[in-house]
Amino acid sequence: MRRLLSLWPVTLCLILCLGCAVDSRQDEVARVVQDHVARVEPLSRQANLTYWEAATTGEVDKFEEYARLQLQIRRIYSEPSGFARVKALRKSDPRDLRLARQLDKFYYAYVQNQIEPDLLKEIVELDTKVQEAYNNYRATIDGRKVTMSDIYTSLTTQTDCAKREAAWRASKQVGNTIVADFLRLVRLRNQAARRLGFDNFHTMTIVAGEQKTRELDNIFDELDRLTRKPFAAMKKELDGVLAKSYGITPEELMPWHYHDPFFQRTPLVYELDLDQYYKGRDVKELSRRYYAGIGLPIEDILARSDLYDREGKYPHAFSHDVDRSGDVRVLANLQDTERWMETLLHELGHAIYDRYHDPNEPWLLREPAHPFATEAIAMFFGRLSRNAAWMQQMLNLSDEETVKIMQVSDRYLRFQQILFVRWALVMYRFEKALYADPDQNLNDLWWDLVEEYQLIRRPPGQADAGWLSKLHFTTAPCYYHNYMLGELLASQLHDCLVHKVLKLESDKGLSYVGDQRVGRYLRENVFGPGARYPWNEMIVRATGRRLSPKYFVEQFVSQ
Ligand SMILES: [Zn+2]
Repeated sequence: MRRLLSLWPVTLCLILCLGCAVDSRQDEVARVVQDHVARVEPLSRQANLTYWEAATTGEVDKFEEYARLQLQIRRIYSEPSGFARVKALRKSDPRDLRLARQLDKFYYAYVQNQIEPDLLKEIVELDTKVQEAYNNYRATIDGRKVTMSDIYTSLTTQTDCAKREAAWRASKQVGNTIVADFLRLVRLRNQAARRLGFDNFHTMTIVAGEQKTRELDNIFDELDRLTRKPFAAMKKELDGVLAKSYGITPEELMPWHYHDPFFQRTPLVYELDLDQYYKGRDVKELSRRYYAGIGLPIEDILARSDLYDREGKYPHAFSHDVDRSGDVRVLANLQDTERWMETLLHELGHAIYDRYHDPNEPWLLREPAHPFATEAIAMFFGRLSRNAAWMQQMLNLSDEETVKIMQVSDRYLRFQQILFVRWALVMYRFEKALYADPDQNLNDLWWDLVEEYQLIRRPPGQADAGWLSKLHFTTAPCYYHNYMLGELLASQLHDCLVHKVLKLESDKGLSYVGDQRVGRYLRENVFGPGARYPWNEMIVRATGRRLSPKYFVEQFVSQ
């Protein structure tokens, strides 16, 4: 008893000292985080402002300045001493979860940039060369130069099959011209990834994105299983319609008969012209009114945005968080069409995610939980421009018009979503195989996958590198699966809103207009926490379960 008692002061002292050690480590982590943010934050704000100027004016020197600033940020993350410190601190497992999460953010930013300077230089130069070659390439038909929009026009309107084939082949030409350099780039990227202990660049990118290859494989396997039959049925019906329009049999259909170079969009054969409902409407004002109605006002975002067409300006659209402190802007080129209604709702979805992060969270965590999570929010709102109930309320349509839209729109959306799954399966499986073994016969592999998942026959003759005309292989490597995950999460959030938040039996006739509960739920569960939790934990907290294809399938496949 005595002995036991006499041990107390020693034990107590030990506990206290351990406490001191933990506290001082904690302080060190806090200091490292603070120093780091002090270096990165101003650079990042400056880079973002410069990019905005470049995109709104098209001035070359602004783009160059932006590239310089980006390189400066990248250099910080390629410092080996900084990486070693972050790794050691991460092992010490700080008790403060916010600090631990910020260390995670550093760690993954460092991992991707820990490449020896010579190899990095070689990769960056080759990457730039491939991208420039891609951007500057002009396809030709019979020696005449054509633009991508000429090609799309041919593929959507041309009835002469030989002319369609020529347009489709023209859309693929760029692949053959860049494939040798591109494969060299793939091998260099793999070399860099292997030196860092990864199987290949694909695996490294997945891990740096806080994802697991096996988890993605399981999701895609399940999607394949659940969409195979419904897709085959829809495709058969479509083939009948298309074949008839060309005066051929369904067995004679080739890749160039499908209205899109990769058959990633549904041919508009079932389409109702939705533009008629948006003609003369102010899509900016509709968006303002809509987001205010669900309790997520966007006046300040719109005031900073650059929304209309101008010479030299970037011709598409994006949302841009300049400083993670509320300066969020959208670039667009608005017109009174359904496509621009969708695009603006989509980009503003990204914008409100950034705008409504909890300002009390630290700078490093004031960003979306994952790129696919912000894509999910953008898709969730973008889908509304074709939602008959939403259109009725926002555009004051009659019941008769609404029913007409519903019949066509639902069918189109269902087809489009199932078609996208099949296409994403090709992209995911192909890119994974590409980085696993860039020396295999990739051209044949591409068509094996297209035949298996999209049910499209390969053209006769030797396969070429037309697959590389898909922009994402060059501009966003190993990223495509995130578009699919975004669709899955959009549906999972939709399901949670319908059943748990709005407490409805089904989503029939649901417009999501004027209900503040929608904004409150998203703000509290998704936007507010930002990157406070890893994406899978955020989803469990927000919806009650892990990311699952179940809700997407319920919404679009099993009807
Ligand atoms: Zn987006």
